[in-house]
Amino acid sequence: MSRKIPAPAVNAESKPFWDAAGEGRFLIKRCRACGQAHWYPRLACPLCFSDHTVWEESPGEGVVYTFSVMRPTSPTPFAIGYVTLDEGPSMLTNFVDCDFATLRIGQRVKVRFQPTEGGAPAPVFAPI
Ligand SMILES: [Zn+2]
Repeated sequence: MSRKIPAPAVNAESKPFWDAAGEGRFLIKRCRACGQAHWYPRLACPLCFSDHTVWEESPGEGVVYTFSVMRPTSPTPFAIGYVTLDEGPSMLTNFVDCDFATLRIGQRVKVRFQPTEGGAPAPVFAPI
């Protein structure tokens, strides 16, 4: 059993991401001016402030940058942390479907989508 994830906050900047997530596709934003990908999706590139950003479909693969295992007294333990995507950006996420005792920094992971409480599915990561 996995922990319920709250529904994501969807705004105009991120709506295409959540729409794609509903179809099981993982999108990132890339800047046409500086060529870098970024996360969280924004209209203007956070690296060079250009508004020439485009959506790009990503395989959603990367490595664990850091994580913490949370062990609440009630339901089930869960792990949150950062994944560095192969495209470059790092994102805060939940790790699922793995033995937290063996999860390690540098491990290859891949995105999957987990239902949330009444909203778009949220991107979470599991070991490849
Ligand atoms: Zn840029």
